Amino acid sequence: MDGKQFIDGQFVAGEGAVENILDPATGEVLAKVPEASPAQIQAAVKAAEKAFPGWARTPPKDRATALLKLADAIEAKGAELARLESRNCGKPYALALNDEIPAIADVFRFFAGAARCMTGMATGEYAAGYTSMIRRDPLGVVASIAPWNYPLMMAAWKLGPAVAAGNTVVLKPSEQTPLTTLKLAELIAGLFPPGVINIVTGRGESVGAPLINQPQVRMVSLTGDVATGSKVLQAASQSVKRTHLELGGKAPVIVFDDADLQSVVAGIRTFGFYNAGQDCTAACRIYAGAKVYDRLVADLSSAVSSIKVGTQQEEGVEMGPLISEKQLQRVAGFVERASQQKHIEVTTGGKRGGSKGFFYAPTVVAGAQQDDEIVRREVFGPVVSVTRFEDADKAIAWANDSDYGLASSVWTKDIGKAMKVAAELQYGCTWINSHFMLVSEMPHGGVKRSGYGKDLSMYALEDYTAVRHVMVKY
Ligand code: NAD
Repeated sequence: MDGKQFIDGQFVAGEGAVENILDPATGEVLAKVPEASPAQIQAAVKAAEKAFPGWARTPPKDRATALLKLADAIEAKGAELARLESRNCGKPYALALNDEIPAIADVFRFFAGAARCMTGMATGEYAAGYTSMIRRDPLGVVASIAPWNYPLMMAAWKLGPAVAAGNTVVLKPSEQTPLTTLKLAELIAGLFPPGVINIVTGRGESVGAPLINQPQVRMVSLTGDVATGSKVLQAASQSVKRTHLELGGKAPVIVFDDADLQSVVAGIRTFGFYNAGQDCTAACRIYAGAKVYDRLVADLSSAVSSIKVGTQQEEGVEMGPLISEKQLQRVAGFVERASQQKHIEVTTGGKRGGSKGFFYAPTVVAGAQQDDEIVRREVFGPVVSVTRFEDADKAIAWANDSDYGLASSVWTKDIGKAMKVAAELQYGCTWINSHFMLVSEMPHGGVKRSGYGKDLSMYALEDYTAVRHVMVKY
């Protein structure tokens, strides 16, 4: 794959430094992608600026038609896209194909429909002799910056609402995982006017930072680390650009003594380790009631040790490698430091796996306490910690005692208790007797240092528009 930049409807070779794209299952080079040069970044932004007035005036039904065709094209090329995504990220192919591709197509379909049915405050006479009406208009050029954990899905979350609302976009995937986003450009090419969607690749410092600093950029949308969010905010503050930040997470999972333990164990086994735990909503910080704590640790450790780890195409594989050696060392470092604490026991995993690639065994860290690093910091790997609690108020206080505020879950058969706890949790999302489930109609996004702004849902469409007041004097 040649990995060309997609600028103003044309595929052009990057003129910047060459990035080696690795297969995380082997560590071998999959592709070499030269990143965009400063002139190419400027050209992409200029193309988006030029395309904006025409796209903003394109009737929603025509924007929707393009998005619907893109969704169809993604499904038609589903196997190819899933294969590429799984190779570049190390994900099991079957999961990329059966979980991610349908969800990605659905995001574009949802925003195609949403573009046609925005709602808002009724037009009315709020001063005698005047009629006031509200408009929701696109903002202009949006610079979108994506992470490496779900490259194509993040491209969909960013492009769907921005383009549906009438904005034009320059999207930068992660330097580690640009391949499916570049493949997506081939599908986009015939469906959208030149310049409406542009894709440039490269590193944060050399491509991301200059992109968001372009004066024509009106909004910056980032999914990434809290530290990157802070840098983006600082840059955006110089020119007062609108920002939309989806940052990290450290999801608490409160398991009460009356929970259905079998479904708790099955849930954490799936939702704590999906995508090798490289998920901002991963069910990774378990608080277990005192009466179920021992059984939960035993059953969970046994369930987690049965997770089939392997390469992308292996039959029945449930979990692949981490994205890079750096990420592997980071995860191993957290577990190593945790295991040195006397009160902690690593009940399964805790070691590197395989003879090559970036594999780390699914890991359970039991006996963790609220102030431990493993409870407080985002590991972003296949590691869950379990902490015992005696009373509900303590569990809620501990759950909320976090810099993060993205996702959380509560497990109990008492729905009244679940509702009370859900109301008290300071998280963008709380699942009850479940975790991780996302639907295009419902918003995804955080509070606290997990950021602000919503992906998915009508709220995302609103985030990519400006509310305007038009007042007519008779
Ligand atoms: P990252 O912050 O290192 O990189 C994200 C993107 O930002 C990349 O494309 C990178 O090139 C770019 N970038 C880096 N520095 C930049 C700068 N100064 N200016 C502009 N762009 C810059 O994150 P990552 O390691 O790719 O992804 C993992 C992180 O993303 C985790 O913290 C995870 O929790 C978070 N994440 C959050 C969500 C969510 O919805 N909240 C979803 C997925 C991942």
